[in-house]
Amino acid sequence: MSELAVYALRSESSRGRRYAEPAPGNRSEFQRDRDRIVHASAFRRLEYKTQVFINHEGDLFRTRLTHSLEVAQIARVLARSLRLNEDLTEAIALAHDLGHTPFGHAGQDELNACLREFSPLAGGFEHNLQSLRVVDELEERYASFNGLNLCFETREGILKHCSLTHAKLLGDVGQRFIDRTQPSLEAQLANLADEIAYNNHDIDDGLRSGLLTVDQMQTVPIFARHYAQVLQAWPELAPRRAIAETIRRMINTLITDVTATTSARLAQVAPADAEVARQSGPLVAFSDALRQEADTLKKFLFENLYRHYQVMRMTNKARRIVRELFTAFLQEPRLLPPDYRHGDPVNQARAISDYIAGMTDRFAIREHHRLFQMGDQL
Ligand code: MG
Repeated sequence: MSELAVYALRSESSRGRRYAEPAPGNRSEFQRDRDRIVHASAFRRLEYKTQVFINHEGDLFRTRLTHSLEVAQIARVLARSLRLNEDLTEAIALAHDLGHTPFGHAGQDELNACLREFSPLAGGFEHNLQSLRVVDELEERYASFNGLNLCFETREGILKHCSLTHAKLLGDVGQRFIDRTQPSLEAQLANLADEIAYNNHDIDDGLRSGLLTVDQMQTVPIFARHYAQVLQAWPELAPRRAIAETIRRMINTLITDVTATTSARLAQVAPADAEVARQSGPLVAFSDALRQEADTLKKFLFENLYRHYQVMRMTNKARRIVRELFTAFLQEPRLLPPDYRHGDPVNQARAISDYIAGMTDRFAIREHHRLFQMGDQL
């Protein structure tokens, strides 16, 4: 790795782990975090969780796992070219979606609604907060502590947003929402890498599925511009290759733009260290022109892909499954595996939410069958 910039976060200056541990011998603290994330069971479950398309709808669509890998890839490129801490960025990127429910945002929205209807005390469900809960509490892999015992900086980076009420309960890791400061530059990078990844791969999956057409995409300036470049250079190119070439050029344009814009801001602010950088407002950003184009693309995807009637049909089924599971477990907690039973109602509701959030798409579908279909296996 080229030498880190002064405003990069160094693992030697980490604020440490919740439970003190001996320093790792042959890797940095943030490398150790990344390795723990890769070995977590929540990480392996991402393979069978929906990004936009339900897992079994096609072998080539993104899942939460391949999405997380694409985010990590983009985040690492950005980190290295800006001389920020690549290991920390990678750890945050790989962990950012660990708290996702089955069935993507539909699952999350429904679980949130279920918890809120149950009791305002239950605090609702937020996938971002759940990602932190997975690494802080829910993983059971280490003899002497629950969770993965990650460094403060990784945990703070995972917590992209949260309400003030939650922030107050979270202590150190929620403090920045109270102080209204930014997370590390590395966390800001992982966040933008997430957006670059999903905007681009959702176009790819949308076109592959046939829910979006190239003609439709031509109404979106950032796509139209890059697609025209490709067709001009290769007028005879097969359609799938033209799409792939367009998307790779778009990713490249976005990464180049973030690098240039962020470098310019860093040069102007010249933060003396990582702490000053996080106090200096958001420094990782697209240029105004590309920010606008990315927003237009996002809006297009929302209206034409995420709200496509065929996606809505899936979303509707997913919400029903999540609600029926939640209701059945709440009415009769003895339907739950013993580890998830609690005497206290609020803790019981939270344990049900943890159980459902941890399910893969197909496990949730099977569990729903087991609870509601007579004659099915136990
Ligand atoms: Mg994501």
